[in-house]
Amino acid sequence: MTEKTQYLAEKVAEMEERGETWDLRTLQTPSKPNVKVEGKEAILLAANNYLDLANDPRVKAAAQDAIDEFGMGAGSDWSIAGYMEVQEELNQAIADFKDTEAGVSFQTGFSVNAGVLPQLLEDGDVYLSDKLNHGSIIDGVRLSPADVKVYDHTDMTSLEETLESVHEDYKRMIVVTDGVFSMDGDIAPMDEIQDLADEYGAMTYVDDAHGEGVLGGGHGIASEFGLEDRIDFQMGTFSKAAGGFGGMLAGDEEVINYAYNTARTWLLSAGYPPAIAAANMKALEIIENEPDRVEKLWENREYFVSEMESMGWDTGRSETPIVPAMVGDSNKAKELGNRLFENGIFALPIVFPMVPRGEARIRNQLSAGHTEADIDEALRVYEEVGRDLDLI
Ligand code: PMP
Repeated sequence: MTEKTQYLAEKVAEMEERGETWDLRTLQTPSKPNVKVEGKEAILLAANNYLDLANDPRVKAAAQDAIDEFGMGAGSDWSIAGYMEVQEELNQAIADFKDTEAGVSFQTGFSVNAGVLPQLLEDGDVYLSDKLNHGSIIDGVRLSPADVKVYDHTDMTSLEETLESVHEDYKRMIVVTDGVFSMDGDIAPMDEIQDLADEYGAMTYVDDAHGEGVLGGGHGIASEFGLEDRIDFQMGTFSKAAGGFGGMLAGDEEVINYAYNTARTWLLSAGYPPAIAAANMKALEIIENEPDRVEKLWENREYFVSEMESMGWDTGRSETPIVPAMVGDSNKAKELGNRLFENGIFALPIVFPMVPRGEARIRNQLSAGHTEADIDEALRVYEEVGRDLDLI
């Protein structure tokens, strides 16, 4: 450590004291409902693998075949010489899946928000952003020359007041929101947001990272609310329900053409391996053809939430397979996380800056792959440890 970087060690020490550092746990198996972590068998309630596709044999085979056909690396940025046939097919599959005119895959979901949002508006324009939007949206709008106004979380009165106060002073407006909020598991009232946006002539941008595979029979939030041809920008990711990797953007032809021709994250970063594109395409096909998975996911979610609540756990605003167990204090949430883990339940404590200070929690995420026995065991441990720590 040099004298110049000493301050970083001090910062980490302060974060440790507040319980705000990450204890990384190493998996010795694929991400699936039952994993081995650091030598210990555990039920995984911490993954975004909603439809249990991360380890699906058909998805793996699609990737393996694509490695044989296209090799491992993309060889270059997609914009230069890394754009392959399989990528072109995936873009069309995205449009079909989202029921939009066009689609394009991005390196990650983060890179859609951090790359596209900076390009959509100019000086004299404004973003209206939900207070609890994902960090990638916060970074994306900050990188834009446009102003940003934050409205209260899913509060339509606050959104309307903000639209009313800005609409005469700015040229263009975009209302940007998570579809499903990643730390609370609640759903943006997208129909009301769209109506308000239309009333004031604003565009809409939705982050569907936790809605795909979950809402709208698996097709996401636009399908849930029947807004496929009204939302202007639909961002998504393959890293969650699709069990793969990479981001996506769906919308009209001009939206997609503009996005990949201007987003620096798309233009100046290597394309992900072509095998990933093949796996992503297979996952979309499975989601389309196996609606039972989505139904099972919701059954598991309903069972877990109702049992947790009757035990006395506060599950916050959850409306989806993201189910927080609210704790408050960061160190207490970490203690709960450790105790759950000792008892074979791997569910991660979420602390600042993921959530505001004082709102630390364990975030549970259900999967279609969990069995009733898995959920019963998780509930048994929650009850035992919750009573022990005086949380229920
Ligand atoms: N938006 C939201 C709401 C997310 O939860 C995430 C993933 N943490 C992202 C964007 C980023 O997606 P990706 O993992 O594909 O970068």
